[in-house]
Amino acid sequence: MADFSMDLNEDQQQIQKWVHDFAETVVRPAGHEWDEREETPWPIIEEAAKVGLYSFDFVSQAFFDESGLLMAIAAEELAWGDAGIGLAILGSTLGLAGIASNGTPEQLLEWGPQCFGTPEKVQLAAFAVSEPDAGSDVSSLRTRAVYDEAKDEWVLNGTKTWITNGGIADIHVVVASVDPDLGSRGQASFIIPPGTPGLSQGQKFKKMGIRASHTAEVVLDDVRIPGSLLLGGKEHLDEKLARAREGKRSAGQAAMKTFEASRPAVGAQALGIARAAYEYALDYAKERKAFGRAIIENQAIAFKLADMKTRIDASRLLVWRASWMARNGKEFNSGEGSMSKLYAGETAVHVTEEAIQIMGGYGYIREHPVERWHRDSKIFTIFEGTSEIQRLVIARAISGVHIK
Ligand SMILES: Cc1cc2nc3c(=O)[nH]c(=O)nc-3n(C[C@H](O)[C@H](O)[C@H](O)COP(=O)(O)OP(=O)(O)OC[C@H]3O[C@@H](n4cnc5c(N)ncnc54)[C@H](O)[C@@H]3O)c2cc1C
Repeated sequence: MADFSMDLNEDQQQIQKWVHDFAETVVRPAGHEWDEREETPWPIIEEAAKVGLYSFDFVSQAFFDESGLLMAIAAEELAWGDAGIGLAILGSTLGLAGIASNGTPEQLLEWGPQCFGTPEKVQLAAFAVSEPDAGSDVSSLRTRAVYDEAKDEWVLNGTKTWITNGGIADIHVVVASVDPDLGSRGQASFIIPPGTPGLSQGQKFKKMGIRASHTAEVVLDDVRIPGSLLLGGKEHLDEKLARAREGKRSAGQAAMKTFEASRPAVGAQALGIARAAYEYALDYAKERKAFGRAIIENQAIAFKLADMKTRIDASRLLVWRASWMARNGKEFNSGEGSMSKLYAGETAVHVTEEAIQIMGGYGYIREHPVERWHRDSKIFTIFEGTSEIQRLVIARAISGVHIK
């Protein structure tokens, strides 16, 4: 187990600098263009693959970092560059997390690298849980997976919505119900390999922010996959279902296990946006003159910046704590993973709005990036569990009461 330390070791510092340099020289300059185009920034993902940042190897290295901090550090830097492009680069990691948290080591080794492909042939992954009638309420998924024993195949039918990389991904990790009577305890995750007949993209959504990240519906129409693509294997699933039918607690739900693991890294992305906006507004406040003095000389402006910085640092402490706890096998007894995502997400919305206020009219127009950063920030109070759902998780954890 690694002691918790705020001093990054040499490796971590080097990687932080490496990701920061990439974010500064490649990602940030491209932010405006891909926001306007609302398209997947393939050349940037390919560039990230070339330098090794978009790769199974790098993500594995980050996951295995003893302190648990590396993924959070990399995610903060990328989102500091641009959150939409950052998510286009990090989106596949959610598919990978779906495999890592529910699959066997063999499944992870076989499919993990395919979530990223190679620098010559970049691939994407998606993690598909949400449905038109089941977002926060994951227990009511309608997508069904039925086992065809004669052929040892699973047949999936249903519609997923709001899926990052949905339809354009090579690997889709899909959560489906195998026994609807059991709610979320009757669900399992499946890998849908590239080119599987029956999987198609529905509508692509036009969004308020993170517009370089592709979000679309995924339609599953009699999708047939081999039995071996059930994550965790049939024996494990049968045991889990038997326990659930007897009313015993099972180790966890397919979707929830993935979200628990990924929340701190999502919080880290929010943190990156907040830091970008704070730095930009601080520089601006020192330069901009009104009434014959720099606007930062007014307490009304300086105190905003003081509060922004305080909230950013508090967010980082929560994100790093949760990342360290997750990696070192500490249970989130008070919903610490949710705390990190909740606070960092709401901080990003607050700080980017304050940055616009500090910049006045210049903050509101597209010549400066802060209006984009504000639009980008809002998703962090919605996806991977809304702020309300995070508060529910925390409130239940600290009280032991099943708060609704
Ligand atoms: C850009 C984008 C990318 C996404 N990417 C993915 C992805 O890759 N994979 C995926 O599976 N999903 C993805 N999602 C879906 C996202 O996780 C859901 O939108 C989110 O979980 C909320 O679900 P919902 O939209 O159905 O809202 P609802 O669940 O309908 O919630 C509506 C409102 O009611 C509140 N609410 C609901 N239940 C409660 C309660 N019990 N107590 C208090 N308040 C409550 C919510 O907090 C919210 O304010 C993405 C969404 C977006 C917009």
